[in-house]
Amino acid sequence: MDTKVLEKCREALQRQMNELMAETGKTLSDMTLGPEDNFPDPTDRAALESDRNFTLRLRDRERKLIAKIKEAIKRIEGGTFGTCESCGGEIEEKRMIARPVTTECIDCKTAAEEEEVR
Ligand SMILES: [Zn+2]
Repeated sequence: MDTKVLEKCREALQRQMNELMAETGKTLSDMTLGPEDNFPDPTDRAALESDRNFTLRLRDRERKLIAKIKEAIKRIEGGTFGTCESCGGEIEEKRMIARPVTTECIDCKTAAEEEEVR
């Protein structure tokens, strides 16, 4: 893959990770500052609880995405970025730019999705 494209993907990944990290940090401080004891009403408490569950689920998704981004950056450094994990073929550059965390070429991805549907 072209060095310029690689660099572009790496920048995009880094930027996305920074945004996620900032977001996760914000969520964390929101949770720490949660005035739990200031909600004596059980209804408010329940609402707060479900808010918190939602936040935790969100953070789980963010964490997984951050892990994916880290792997993608490692692949860039290891020189395997843009190589399909399943068939070892090259993944379309267009696809890598649009979604740099991609690990499979469109053919393998489509095959895997058809497998899931079945
Ligand atoms: Zn493939």
